[in-house]
Amino acid sequence: MLAVVPPPVTVRVPAKVNLHLAVSDLREDGYHELVTVFQALSLTDEVTVMATEEPGIEVYGEGEGSVPTGANNLAWRAAQALAAHVGKPGAEAKVRIVLRKGIPVAGGMAGGSADAAATLVGLASLWKLDVTRDELAELAAGLGSDVPFALYGGTALGTGRGEQLVPVLARHTFHWVLAFDQRGLSTPRVFGELDRLRAEGKPPRIGSHTPVVEALASGDPRQLALLLGNDLQAAAVSLRPGLRRTLRAGVNAGALAGTVSGSGPTCAFLCADAQSAVEVAAELSGAGVCRTVRVAHGPVPGARLVGGDDAP
Ligand code: ATP
Repeated sequence: MLAVVPPPVTVRVPAKVNLHLAVSDLREDGYHELVTVFQALSLTDEVTVMATEEPGIEVYGEGEGSVPTGANNLAWRAAQALAAHVGKPGAEAKVRIVLRKGIPVAGGMAGGSADAAATLVGLASLWKLDVTRDELAELAAGLGSDVPFALYGGTALGTGRGEQLVPVLARHTFHWVLAFDQRGLSTPRVFGELDRLRAEGKPPRIGSHTPVVEALASGDPRQLALLLGNDLQAAAVSLRPGLRRTLRAGVNAGALAGTVSGSGPTCAFLCADAQSAVEVAAELSGAGVCRTVRVAHGPVPGARLVGGDDAP
């Protein structure tokens, strides 16, 4: 009898931008405590999972030459973790994962985490698993602190290492322009640079997240623009001084404000509306301060099946 091969499953998953990212001093266990407000953006990766006798990972699009295609790809680790969790250890050895990347690699927009979240959702569907999104989120937190947010999307307050999430009300859609840099930045290196700068007594820390949450509820981009803040920005700029010019160019082009996203080097510019975002993007592309410019909006939902609504 012929075995029935299930059709491939494709999942679309968003990038994140940090509207607020407060970083504690280095703890004894080597971690930094974070308080962050994430927003999921319409800049996405698409992840297809399929049953196969030829397992592996294929990567196309953003950073395709620099993403690992072996066991250290976060998507592969997600597949392994899910297989073990549902009592099918090794089941990932019969899966092929195709990543179509729109999210810049090592860009501070959690692209690897997004792919891991998408793989969990995709395989839950391919393997017809009876798992809830909350159950996937527990697995996700073990894979990386940004993975749970990529599952849920929207706008959320993250604490701990960023993996403990509470949804935040965001009224209206916010419009963004993203400036991708020539090369990525290593997240651990940026945290290390922040520790070094702090040991020298600088830079100042951002304040409480409460005003950001209030601005999101009001839906007023002008109010939110005044409050964007990221403790990692000074460290990212210290390692990549050209970002200062990029941030200035976005505001000169008409954005309300700009911030480094997460550990950078992607710069995110908040704009007054969709039309303004298109204009800022056009002007920024011509300014010669970055590799690529993209327009996006948020919040958008987390990892979702493409062409289906039965995702866990
Ligand atoms: P974060 O903001 O969560 O720290 P990032 O967005 O700065 O992450 P990623 O794009 O997630 O960075 O990539 C960080 C590193 O992870 C890359 O340099 C790459 O070697 C590795 N990596 C592993 N799996 C993936 C994946 N699926 N996509 C991209 N990078 C991956």
